[in-house]
Amino acid sequence: MKVERDCKIVQDLLPNYIENLTNEETNEYVKEHLNKCSECNKIYENMKKEVDLKVAKKDNKEVKYLKKFNFKFKLLRNLLIIIVAIIIIIVARKSCILINLSNKQKELENSNNYYAKIESYSDGNMNIIETYVKDDKFLTTFNKYSKEDDVIKMVTYKSGDEQFRLLENKDKKVLYHDGIEMLKVQPISYLPNNFIQTLFMAINTSINKVEFDGKECYILRIDNSEVFVEAETGLMIKKIDNYNNTIDYEYEFGIVEDTDIVKPDTSGYIVNEE
Ligand SMILES: [Zn+2]
Repeated sequence: MKVERDCKIVQDLLPNYIENLTNEETNEYVKEHLNKCSECNKIYENMKKEVDLKVAKKDNKEVKYLKKFNFKFKLLRNLLIIIVAIIIIIVARKSCILINLSNKQKELENSNNYYAKIESYSDGNMNIIETYVKDDKFLTTFNKYSKEDDVIKMVTYKSGDEQFRLLENKDKKVLYHDGIEMLKVQPISYLPNNFIQTLFMAINTSINKVEFDGKECYILRIDNSEVFVEAETGLMIKKIDNYNNTIDYEYEFGIVEDTDIVKPDTSGYIVNEE
């Protein structure tokens, strides 16, 4: 009877014994019994095989999972590399276009013979500015047409040291000599002139080539506005914002004659004394 009781105890302990969960004294007791009892030893061997098989299966599963995970990770990493490469290519391409346009514009920026016209329209008001520039002379005419039919006309003239401005509206005609900033329209570019700003603009702007007004242009879409830049000159020729306010720019270089810059007649204007 003693033997049978021992067998039952050992068999109960076997699962824990196999998984090394039993203490040393118990291990000794189980080992001793297994050595002399073939019945229990058989059960022990079978149980051990089963557990080993389970562990192997589990390991195999984990390896498979890791392999799968590794594959997914590599796929994701490669996808990310491709996306980043595409972004870099796009930004580089846009930067090249912007730098190219900016260089063309810079050549014209310091021109001392040009005609420029800026026509802006916003909220029912229209402004037209025309400038003739030749060497140290220029003549700028500014006309503002507002909703209230109030026309304001301003003429600025400079030749050498002589410079003045005439202001005219329906109530008064005033002549300013001093303390006024001379209005001279410069060829306007929308383009940044340093690398960091160019890069920033390339990231934030969509650039598309179009034909506009018979000219090859790039449309730059940035900050809710569309800017048309002429491919040949790098100059901005139109700007439209999201309120549909528009500004049109027109330039001609090397065509201004002395006769285009005639000193305006100041008779009838009151000299400003302020
Ligand atoms: Zn036994």
